[in-house]
Amino acid sequence: MFGTHNIGSLPALLDRARATRRAQVEIAESLERFPSVLPARRESPYSAWVAISVGCNNTCTFCIVPRLRGREEDRRPGDVLAEIRALVADGVLEVTLLGQNVNSYGAGFGDRLAFGKLLRACGEIDGLERVRFTSPHPRDFTGDVIAAMAQTPNVMPQLHMPLQSGSDRVLRAMRRAYRRDSYLEILRAVRAAIPEAAITTDIIVGFPGETERDFADTLDVVRRARFAGAFTFRYSPRPGTPAARMDGQVPPEVVADRYERLVATVEEIALAENQALVGSVVEVLVADGEGRKDEMTRRMSGRARDNRLVHFTPPPGAPPRPGDVVTTVVTAAAPHHLLADGAPMSVRRTRAGDAWEALRGAGGRRAAALAMDGDGGPQGGGHGGRRGRPVPLGMPSRAPRG
Ligand code: SF4
Repeated sequence: MFGTHNIGSLPALLDRARATRRAQVEIAESLERFPSVLPARRESPYSAWVAISVGCNNTCTFCIVPRLRGREEDRRPGDVLAEIRALVADGVLEVTLLGQNVNSYGAGFGDRLAFGKLLRACGEIDGLERVRFTSPHPRDFTGDVIAAMAQTPNVMPQLHMPLQSGSDRVLRAMRRAYRRDSYLEILRAVRAAIPEAAITTDIIVGFPGETERDFADTLDVVRRARFAGAFTFRYSPRPGTPAARMDGQVPPEVVADRYERLVATVEEIALAENQALVGSVVEVLVADGEGRKDEMTRRMSGRARDNRLVHFTPPPGAPPRPGDVVTTVVTAAAPHHLLADGAPMSVRRTRAGDAWEALRGAGGRRAAALAMDGDGGPQGGGHGGRRGRPVPLGMPSRAPRG
């Protein structure tokens, strides 16, 4: 038995349990160092999650993470980069940097510009084609990170930035230290620097005390922000959080009604944004297991550079493998995906595709998804993470909507 603060002790505890044939118990009050020596779990041979920090220094009133995980502990940049280089050497093309608040990365070792520098350092890694991150916090989002995103070619034109509410009153009650205008200003700056960026978000409806007017403010921000998609949640109290004890809990039927209206608005905008891409060229990293209907439709699926899900018709003959890169043209759009049903312009066979094929040969597709590798960080779930199943760090699990 161990706690969340000493997950790094797991290998030693297992060894001890094996040697003594007795259950081992070790509970730590706080994290003493980032557990960089745990085996990493890959999402796939072509894509991996890399934790850059655990814990959080914020105190959002709906969130249990600070209580469960403690204060933010940053992993040293050298350890992060070494793990990424090792992954790339094994064929990985894409990494997603994970932290509860990636924008405060570096505060622990005295470098407030560390996250932007880390993105730029990722740009120096040969063979690393796609870099993503989750999640940024609007409070700490600074211009140097936007510049690093725009100027580092392998940082993808995509941003997932939690909004939570479009009402300043509710944001204050949530103890989210930004306001609707400052949030929209970050989006404006990101789009000025990266016009093709797809921006997605998290939104909670029915936070205690939320009025119809507050909810209208949220819908207003959603319309102004033109999100490419959103993870939407009905608020439900989490025991141990300040919000669970707040007055003004919103009746479930009111929450349900607002939720439906929010989803409809998000989907309407996402559809319009996706339809605007019909006729454009997309570069798709072919994925394994992204298209539930692929077998029936004879399509394959993957993610565009901006992280949009693309279902495409493969060329006749040998199909591309997960990990290969297909360039094709968008022919139709839906709120949650793009279709590309013409003949692809090109198929690039990659080292990642070779790695996928080798793993499949060695033990089946499942083995590929569960491959373990030494000398890496634990996979931590942040606010987001649409793909794979990173270990959650305390945020509610979610179903993507919109
Ligand atoms: S919601 Fe995110 S930023 Fe807020 S306390 Fe939780 S982990 Fe930290």
